[in-house]
Amino acid sequence: MNSSLRTIAHFDLDSFYVSVERLKNPALRGRPIAVGGHSGRGVVASCSYEARRFGVRSAMPVGQARRLCPELLMVKGDMESYSKYSGLVTDIIADGTPLFEKASVDEFYIDLSGMDRFYGCSLFTRELGRKIEKESGLDISYALATNKLLSKVATNECKPHGRLEIPPGSEKEFLAPLPIEKMPMIGNKTAERLRGVGIGTIRVLSQIPPERMIELLGKNGLELSRRANGIDDTPIIPYHEQKSIGTENTFHTDTVDVSFLHRELARMTESIGFELRQHDMLTGCLTVKIRYSDFQTLTKQCTIPYAASDHLLLAKSRELFDKLYDRHLAVRLIGVRFSHLVSGNYQIHLFDDTEEDIRLYQSIDSIKKEFGEGLLVRASGFVPDRWTKRSAPGGNGDSDGNAGPAAPADKERGAGFGRNPVPKAFRFIK
Ligand SMILES: [Mg+2]
Repeated sequence: MNSSLRTIAHFDLDSFYVSVERLKNPALRGRPIAVGGHSGRGVVASCSYEARRFGVRSAMPVGQARRLCPELLMVKGDMESYSKYSGLVTDIIADGTPLFEKASVDEFYIDLSGMDRFYGCSLFTRELGRKIEKESGLDISYALATNKLLSKVATNECKPHGRLEIPPGSEKEFLAPLPIEKMPMIGNKTAERLRGVGIGTIRVLSQIPPERMIELLGKNGLELSRRANGIDDTPIIPYHEQKSIGTENTFHTDTVDVSFLHRELARMTESIGFELRQHDMLTGCLTVKIRYSDFQTLTKQCTIPYAASDHLLLAKSRELFDKLYDRHLAVRLIGVRFSHLVSGNYQIHLFDDTEEDIRLYQSIDSIKKEFGEGLLVRASGFVPDRWTKRSAPGGNGDSDGNAGPAAPADKERGAGFGRNPVPKAFRFIK
């Protein structure tokens, strides 16, 4: 047997938000329910299997869901509870496994390579699954396979409350009959294009020559071709090494101008919030850093319910900053960092927002994407042009008369600041 063969388990909580709501309120069991915005003009974030039978789906406008299923019960989303249960399950997995990745609030990959494949892995995953269900009260599905892709597709196939093992060597056979939409890389547009040229199943997809796939889909075509053939080398990213995203700003001149610092903090928070959403991620932890003129550096961190919306992130970074900042000292640098990142679509986490609000967020982000993120900022994050070219906010500029105490230099990034050009205000750090 190939010694480099891996064994990967994928665990996925079943209709996670709905299950948490049912733990909080057992009267919701067995009924068609959907979690989402409360206004009736929001979207469905998650729905029960009873609701799915009527055709209700995630990301569907609530109005449409109600038309499909008149007795649908809408429950207002509560990210705080979901984050709590997500953390509970994470702790159980962290306790019993040496190497795992938290892929989203309710999804985990565990690397069991090296454990005896025929007995050890099956038994281990079964016991872990049971333990999670017993201790959290939530249902979970899982699958075992030789890579992440296969284990995820297999879990999706066996939910809810399913268990599936794809033995080594049967990867292609398992994938072949599935429609192309079951492949995680394939979104609506790609599916449309592939179906347009007669590719409907993964079997057909796996038989298309790689050159033709590149013609069809560019370099993604090659990766897709490999995946259709059951090949995926993506490693497990250990939970404690998962990405964080952040930015720092060193000012030209140290400053005690609190309102300037607040605006800078807001601008930086929005900037990395935008990047977070571009990567379809949510953050569960915020850190704010201040370096004073004497180089004393302090940080303050807090965990938060998973979020990606500016209004939540801005409020939190401001709160941390205000707790941390000693108004008697001049500030040389401030920084903001998001960590505990997991995949998650921010659109469906805006439980309080209507469809229109969500569209507004999407529009703002697409404008930022096309024209640069500096073009659109909240009033609180706005720094007038005249401050960005070494001109002073306030009357205590340098002796040359045009340099201010708080004009950001962005030296560490070697980038300009202001509306144009826009600094690349983020970086991914493993
Ligand atoms: Mg799930």
